[in-house]
Amino acid sequence: MTAYRSDKIYLDHAATTPLDTEVFRKMTPYFTDVFGNASSQHCFGREAANALTCARDEVARAVGVASKEIYFTSGGTEADNLGIKGISLANADRGKHIIVSAIEHPAVLESAFSLKKFGYEITLVMPDGDGVIRPESVEKALRPDTVLVAVMSANNETGAIQPIREIYERVHAAGAYLWCDCVQSAGALPFELFPADGWAISAHKFNGPKGVGVARIRSGVRFDPQMCGGHQERGLRGGTINTPAIVGLAEALKMSQNNSEKVNAYVSSLRDSFESCVLKLCEGVRINGANARRLPSHSDMSIGGCDGQNVVMLLDMQGVAASTGAACSSGATTPSHVLSAMGLSEDLVRGGVRFSFGRENTPQEAERAAHILAQVVSSIRKSL
Ligand code: PLP
Repeated sequence: MTAYRSDKIYLDHAATTPLDTEVFRKMTPYFTDVFGNASSQHCFGREAANALTCARDEVARAVGVASKEIYFTSGGTEADNLGIKGISLANADRGKHIIVSAIEHPAVLESAFSLKKFGYEITLVMPDGDGVIRPESVEKALRPDTVLVAVMSANNETGAIQPIREIYERVHAAGAYLWCDCVQSAGALPFELFPADGWAISAHKFNGPKGVGVARIRSGVRFDPQMCGGHQERGLRGGTINTPAIVGLAEALKMSQNNSEKVNAYVSSLRDSFESCVLKLCEGVRINGANARRLPSHSDMSIGGCDGQNVVMLLDMQGVAASTGAACSSGATTPSHVLSAMGLSEDLVRGGVRFSFGRENTPQEAERAAHILAQVVSSIRKSL
């Protein structure tokens, strides 16, 4: 359950979700009563350290890996930086070629490209027209000196789910490591669908707190710490442990996984009825990734003849919250690199708008949002 109530319609769950009230309740004592530093040796520290151990075990159980493979971070961005840079730099002796899918979040893309100054070569793999990275395309890009491949579990704009199992087989056969950004799928889809040598998740995407995430790195995979100056997380991620946030992440992950079947069915029914209503009311709308397997929450559309930024602004004035491109970097007016990589025309890239549903939304909201969108689109087209 979440406490947020609003007369506005929030359709931006891919950007962030409201904190679950039960998660908040579980976190509260760790702000006030159990405030010790988990690295301290006295009883206050031990209490916090116990909470940390429990949270790590809970996360490990929820995702089916060993506790020692879990490294807590400040979120998805840091986890991606740790995985991409940490693994590539520590394994330079295996090669300096990295393959990255062109639809990755900037946290992955920019981490990979930052390694060019250390002599790494980066190959981008393009998706098909539905935003799916084909395993054959990854296979073609693999080289004897490929050290790491990064393909996300599901795209943050289109929601398109990637064939990670097939990609992993090919990457492994070539002796490289696979990094999988699971930030958008965590809590909604089981981790077994995305076998990899490491992955990133972020609690605020599944009704947990902001500013906390996990980098899971398979035992035996060497990586260099990217945060120096402390011995926390077995010396591999320095910084005082954020006990309340980590307790919240563990609880939110467990809860969302336990409820995922019911929530996915509900959320996808809202999304599907929203899309069919929009398609009925508006001409010239393309649902991006429509032929791919998609996350239940995401609805990314390109609205011909409209500027997505404009649509989002007018929707906001009518009380509907949506976004263009990657909302976490909103403020940026650059066109979506994801839609461009999918080969959409300039007009359709410019007209991209993402709606993402959550368990708090209602069927009435889905229908109202579709009607408001139709009015907005019609007023923009009339003004041209
Ligand atoms: N990766 C993906 C796919 C995302 O969607 C996001 C945020 O939207 C991130 C990484 C970054 O996560 P965080 O906001 O926790 O830094």
